[in-house]
Amino acid sequence: AGSIVVQVRAAVLGDEYVLLLADDRTEITRTEEIRNDFVANVSHELKTPVGAISLLAEALEDSSDDEVAVRRFAQRMHKEASRLADLVQDIIELSRLQGANIAQRGTAVDLSHVIADAVDRSKLTAESKNIKIVVGGAGTDAQVYGDPDLLTTAFRNLIDNAVRYSPENTRVGIGIRSREGLIAVSVTDQGDGISPEDQERVFERFYRVDAARSRATGGTGLGLSIVKHVVTNHGGEVSVWSQPGQGSTFTVRLPELEGRDSVDTTEPQGP
Ligand code: ADP
Repeated sequence: AGSIVVQVRAAVLGDEYVLLLADDRTEITRTEEIRNDFVANVSHELKTPVGAISLLAEALEDSSDDEVAVRRFAQRMHKEASRLADLVQDIIELSRLQGANIAQRGTAVDLSHVIADAVDRSKLTAESKNIKIVVGGAGTDAQVYGDPDLLTTAFRNLIDNAVRYSPENTRVGIGIRSREGLIAVSVTDQGDGISPEDQERVFERFYRVDAARSRATGGTGLGLSIVKHVVTNHGGEVSVWSQPGQGSTFTVRLPELEGRDSVDTTEPQGP
């Protein structure tokens, strides 16, 4: 439980009365805190690659006659610049999400298509590690209401993580099930897994289990917070199950779009 923030204003009315006005500012203060934290985190994260790029540029200037060094510095600059580009992309995605109004902008979305699209985009990385992505239950009619681009981004992040945090020659399984008005999509990998303490934190912005390893695998620490935002905006939830050393399963549950049939077969009202 957090503290309650109250703003009190007092006014003296005549000789006998004091008017006290108390505003509950708890929610506003919390939103401000989250925003300030986010800005601080973003600035910090952006400063790292920008700083590295300018140092490398300096080093390049100083070593212009050493061909090997020039090559090495240029490669590292390229890597830092891609990292910067990834970060900017994720930050734009997150801010786009904050303004997203699914209720107004949504359409009927077939999740099997969204997932096929997301799988396509992870294919190159998967092939380079000889990881097989297997989609099960794809024939399932899996209609939800929402924004197809945002949903593709969410599933792409989950599949991308499964591929990035798995060793070579493993398998990533994607299952789609429809049950009790919900569609559950699970993404299972045979990677390193996530410890119980970290499972609670991986959805936080910029949280990485192992910063050094994650940097090597090219993460921004924003992927899962984007997933959580998208899924929550769609009235769903995301959870993780993992056995360290054996792999992880991320499951997204979304409300199933009710079949058109029930509407179409309704008898017309009135005489
Ligand atoms: P990143 O861009 O670093 O991958 P994410 O928000 O997508 O950021 O994930 C946060 C952290 O959770 C990652 O840095 C990684 O440590 C851990 N993680 C995410 N997905 C997996 C996975 N499938 N297997 C193991 N660890 C994972």
